[in-house]
Amino acid sequence: MAETRLYMMQTGMLECRECNIKMNHSQAPYEIPVPWYLITHPKGNVVIDGGCAVECALDPVAHWGPITEVYWPVMSADEGCVAALEGMGIAAESVRYVLQSHLHLDHTGATGRFPNAKHIVTRREYEYAHSPDWFAANAYINADIDRPGIDWFLLEDGDDGYDVFGDGVVRFIFTPGHSPGHASFLIQLPRQGAVLLAVDAAYTTDHWDEKALPGFVASATDAVRSVRKLKALAEKHSALVVTGHDPGAWPRFKRSPRYYD
Ligand SMILES: [Zn+2]
Repeated sequence: MAETRLYMMQTGMLECRECNIKMNHSQAPYEIPVPWYLITHPKGNVVIDGGCAVECALDPVAHWGPITEVYWPVMSADEGCVAALEGMGIAAESVRYVLQSHLHLDHTGATGRFPNAKHIVTRREYEYAHSPDWFAANAYINADIDRPGIDWFLLEDGDDGYDVFGDGVVRFIFTPGHSPGHASFLIQLPRQGAVLLAVDAAYTTDHWDEKALPGFVASATDAVRSVRKLKALAEKHSALVVTGHDPGAWPRFKRSPRYYD
């Protein structure tokens, strides 16, 4: 039986400008990592997000369209989430859950790639992804989220804290703001204890420390309140906090093949 472990994975980098990540900051070139996460658990494997779709390794413009003028993905095909798991000896068929923090393009590399997985996301995010406002429309890629045969399970507003296995190991924490239906994840590991995956509720430690707003935001007010909510949770659980795309913080975590357990 698999031990409970958290692996920090990555599909390369996104090239953009500082102002795309930190509101009202400079036009200077800025590069961010694109993390995703694997949790092995006695009851099945879990993929959280999945980074950029593997198609971005070949032809980003064909897969992402005009948003590539703002965010340019740099990744190799073997960083695609299915290939990366295969490289670890984990078959796509063994993945029981694909959990989505939200459905922006650099988080939907796993949707529809794992044939036996239930895909969990908030209803707010799922519905917004299919009827976004104009400024957010290019951030949702229908070729990823509408792949055929996806078994979606949608969380309602009252499901905050949703416990995936019912044992407290993986919980959804609703953190709207960056996108309307964004969620972060509180992970409880046997040795490490609590790990809080903020994902895009806090791209960088500047967001976490309330020194900058995200460069992309659906509601600034909700975004800052979600950070406050996560900070209280992190303190209560003495959690290791993992920001979503911080180029300075990310290399300091234990990344795959190393793991947290
Ligand atoms: Zn996002």
